[in-house]
Amino acid sequence: MTDLSDMKEPGYVLKKDDFPSFFARLKQFGRVIAPRMQDQLRFDEVAKPDQIVWSGHTYFSPKEYVFPHTQTLFKYKDDKPIPVKEDVEQIVLLGARLCDLNAFFVNDFLFKNNEFPDEQYIEKRSKLLLIGNYCHSYVDSYCFCSSMEFKPYYDLLMIDRGSYWHVKVNNPKHDWLVEGMATENYKPKPTECKARLPDKNIKEMFNSAAWEKGSKACFSCGKCTHLCPTCMCFTVFDEPDLDLKGGERRLEWDSCQFKDFTEVAGGHIFRESRTERFKHRIYHKLQYFKDQFGVFMCTGCGRCIRNCPEKIDWIKIINDEKNLPHYFNPTNGKSAEELYPQNQELQGRLSAEKTDGKGGGS
Ligand code: SF4
Ligand code: SF4
Repeated sequence: MTDLSDMKEPGYVLKKDDFPSFFARLKQFGRVIAPRMQDQLRFDEVAKPDQIVWSGHTYFSPKEYVFPHTQTLFKYKDDKPIPVKEDVEQIVLLGARLCDLNAFFVNDFLFKNNEFPDEQYIEKRSKLLLIGNYCHSYVDSYCFCSSMEFKPYYDLLMIDRGSYWHVKVNNPKHDWLVEGMATENYKPKPTECKARLPDKNIKEMFNSAAWEKGSKACFSCGKCTHLCPTCMCFTVFDEPDLDLKGGERRLEWDSCQFKDFTEVAGGHIFRESRTERFKHRIYHKLQYFKDQFGVFMCTGCGRCIRNCPEKIDWIKIINDEKNLPHYFNPTNGKSAEELYPQNQELQGRLSAEKTDGKGGGS
């Protein structure tokens, strides 16, 4: 049987010199949000193309553009609800990596394609144009995206080819963005971090002592969940006016790592210990969501480990339990290049293509 995995795919050639005019087209669609360096690298509005940072991982995920930290669900006055209509603007989310783009695929299951669709999410999502930035290599040693299952979940994907971008269009509605560009066939090699979490079946290790040992340092700060692109836990509360005759009902991010998250009337708390809460997060990512919707809830972005104040590495907990090699340990002193020499080869090939002016093609 023919192996189709190496077949090149059609796309468009966007010369880097022409990027400003492409950027101007994007602005016709809406506000352009892209990775921009501030106190941290984060998704924010960019006014000029040179503000965009194409390398590195953003600290926060882009989920806040469909699921803000806090939002008003409705207002009320004299016991009567008053609907709130938010003006939702069109946004171009530019430069998101495949892990973050796939997070929209996951979140759509929850808020859009579910039994109880969320109108506010759906409206924001329908006004979002997703343009990805392909990773030729993992961004840092915390990434494990290719250990997970990805879909081509974007409107456009930009693949850096040195002097130009190869642009793939996945949504013909946005063909207008590539109008007039030359075409070529190209398919990049998949990102190599597949070996980091080779076995995602954790059913058998539910009662393992490894969870307690591995999560000992966790202090339930909730940072892992707030930075995660697919963690969407929230709480709902009323904010009454001073006269107590009206007010508003608000939604705010919450975290399954907080003790009171599972507290119910009468004071019972379902997940009392930190280990239970930590374990629940990982089981939700690798098992419960998959059982319910058929996809993993984790996209391998690595934020929950990279930014955990204690650097608790749940991938290592799983690999150790299964006696599998662990390819990254923040303290073992090995660089990503040493662990994955094939990426050096890729970098070399790309710069050679740049120098001889071939730049790929069909
Ligand atoms: S795993 Fe790390 S980031 Fe998450 S709650 Fe525990 S200490 Fe905080
Ligand atoms: S669980 Fe961790 S690695 Fe997976 S998507 Fe969330 S933040 Fe990223």
